[in-house]
Amino acid sequence: MKVLVVEDEKRIAGFIRKGLEEHGFVVECSGDGDEAYQLVTTQQYDAIVLDIMLPGRDGLSILQNLRKQANSVPVLLLTARSELDERVEGLNLGADDYMTKPFFVEELVARLHALARRVSGERLSILQAGDLTVNLLTREVKVGNTPVRLTVREFNILEYLTRSPGRVLTRTQILEHVWGYDFDIGTNLIDVHVQRLRKKLGPDAATFIETVRGVGYRFVKQ
Ligand code: CA
Repeated sequence: MKVLVVEDEKRIAGFIRKGLEEHGFVVECSGDGDEAYQLVTTQQYDAIVLDIMLPGRDGLSILQNLRKQANSVPVLLLTARSELDERVEGLNLGADDYMTKPFFVEELVARLHALARRVSGERLSILQAGDLTVNLLTREVKVGNTPVRLTVREFNILEYLTRSPGRVLTRTQILEHVWGYDFDIGTNLIDVHVQRLRKKLGPDAATFIETVRGVGYRFVKQ
């Protein structure tokens, strides 16, 4: 899951980033309302954690404009205990949830997962290809009945591929989605991870995680 955290208090933003990354999220942070608005209208996120009081455009105005443009990205507002009116206004403007500061990051993680589940609604949470089973909610992977332990990156690559069966995903797309940034693609970072992933998934893995020469990878559903 790729999440944008909009929070101008560096300490809080850092704590959220660390907590979410430990739970396998890809996190981008912005401490400025105008920059954040620019990001949410040009980039794809699975959820936005949005503080209300910000330099530049405030959180409620960002939310209001997103919804006006029929952008339904899940938004979780961060509010101070005293901001009751803002909280109510936020929910009326189309926020999906809110949390009052201070909070435990575990609770934020649970709520983001719940939001993602609600949004993905009818989307399949369990994907299968041959002997492989990927549970996108519990992040459990099995080959036959044997559980496979993947690193966060390996799982995120597998998840990204399995969510778009048949589609060729370029190395750049995988980098952006799984690492959350784009850099000189001369490195073979992705290939190394995919090789490791295939090795863990067993001898059939190269048939369902197909290499598309010179481009990237494709998940082939069997
Ligand atoms: Ca603030």
